[in-house]
Amino acid sequence: MTEVEARVARWVRPQVQALEAYQVAEPGKAIKLDAMESPWAWPGALEEAWLERMRSVSVNRYPDPAARRLKPLLREGLGVPEGAELLLGNGSDELIQLIDLAVAGSGRTVMAPGPSFAMYRIIAEYTGAEYVEVPLDAEFGLDLAATREAVSAYNPAVTYLAHPNNPTGNGLDLDAVAELVAQSDGLVVVDEAYAPYADSSFLPRVLEFPNCLVLRTLSKVGLAGLRVGVLIGHPAWIDQLEKCRLPYNLGSLAQASAAFAVEHQEALDRCVAHVLGERARLVEELPAVPGVEQVWPTQTNFLTFRVPQGSADAVHRGLLDRGVLIKRLHGSHPRLEDCLRVTVGRPEENNRFLEALAETLAVAA
Ligand SMILES: *Cc1c(COP(=O)(O)O)cnc(C)c1O
Repeated sequence: MTEVEARVARWVRPQVQALEAYQVAEPGKAIKLDAMESPWAWPGALEEAWLERMRSVSVNRYPDPAARRLKPLLREGLGVPEGAELLLGNGSDELIQLIDLAVAGSGRTVMAPGPSFAMYRIIAEYTGAEYVEVPLDAEFGLDLAATREAVSAYNPAVTYLAHPNNPTGNGLDLDAVAELVAQSDGLVVVDEAYAPYADSSFLPRVLEFPNCLVLRTLSKVGLAGLRVGVLIGHPAWIDQLEKCRLPYNLGSLAQASAAFAVEHQEALDRCVAHVLGERARLVEELPAVPGVEQVWPTQTNFLTFRVPQGSADAVHRGLLDRGVLIKRLHGSHPRLEDCLRVTVGRPEENNRFLEALAETLAVAA
């Protein structure tokens, strides 16, 4: 062991040393269908107007720490209930970190159903909290009885419920969500990253409970590069969490771009509508590809599917060899054996994916 390694081993907190770093694939020239990005470069026809707006930003000044221009636009655009407050983050990932810093930490428990979003565990563990995963049921829905039991047993400080869930794609039963919020003493965060693609939202009910927050993001509707997440709930919760937010967490260019985007909501809505159209086509065509054994229902901009036993690595690699990058879920969780996840792309990208998948499965199976 070198002297540097010895110092690292002595001083980096054990919870951090025990973590595996979050892996992000390098796409190279491949068609990128791995990360739930919108396939359309925004803002398209609005580019000139957007650049003009950017010219008015004074980057020599710190950004507005209160995001006074952006917040009312988001309030309107997202349909935030009267009386709820907003907290903005550098992506919703940062808001999850902020919640765990303020509410979780050493000696406390963070809970989520699983398989779910990888960051719930990673962030909980590096803040020093214990992470408890409650298995989802056979269809990847909430197992209400098991989750209720776990809430009683662990009294979690924070419970994350992703509706719809990533990486499984399905929505949760909102009556079950309400029951869990009502039963929990700790905070329950309903993570609605995919709300624009979903049939339902818990946002209208967020103020009904003394312990509920709803999380949204602009990432899955074409603005992943901006890093803008929104946490919504009772002012009393938001006021406390605000103390842990770094004052300038959201840059001026991101604030101005997000404001511009929300002012041109119809452009974002058009992209969402295109994705929904392509999703419907993939829901039809993906199960018909020989070798695709199961496709789960989706309320998101991605589809999770299963290929023949033992073939997921080869299929993933075969697709990449044919210029298509998707996400390999196989190996990430016992319930995701032989599973892959594809983000809905442009029509020609989806065609390329379906073709490449058929070719690959014909070889692999
Ligand atoms: C993508 C995703 C996020 C993170 O979104 P950012 O705002 O880009 O940080 C949060 N939760 C779930 C469930 C997601 O799938």
